[in-house]
Amino acid sequence: MSHARAFTRRQVLQRAALVLPLAPLAAAPLQEALADAAAAALPLLSSDDPQAKALKYVADAKQSKDAKPDNTCANCALYQGTYGSAQGPCQIFPGKAVTATGWCSSWSAQM
Ligand code: SF4
Repeated sequence: MSHARAFTRRQVLQRAALVLPLAPLAAAPLQEALADAAAAALPLLSSDDPQAKALKYVADAKQSKDAKPDNTCANCALYQGTYGSAQGPCQIFPGKAVTATGWCSSWSAQM
C-alpha cells in the first residue's frame, strides 16, 4: 500500500493561491541581476564624447566645478542603473553607461 498523498484539486488551488503572490518577490533579484549584467555590457561613456563634453559630463562629480555637492548620477532621475550599482545606463546617453559617481549638466532631482 502506498503512503503517497494525493492532493485534491481544491488543495492544489489553495496552495497555489498562497504561493503565486510571492512569485514577483522571487523574480525581483533575478531582474536586478539581469539589469546589472546588461549595464555592465554597455561601454562606459567617455568624457571626450562630443555630447558628453557639451553636457560637461565627468565620471567623478568631485572633479566638476559645476556639480553641486552630493549631486551624482546615482541620485539623478535620469539614471537607470540599479540601486548601489557602480555604473548604469542614462536616458541622456543611450547605448552608453555612466558611472554612479558621475555628473553632467542635465542632472535632475528624483521625484
Ligand atoms: Fe548622470 Fe543624470 Fe547626467 Fe545622466 S543625466 S549623465 S545620470 S547626471
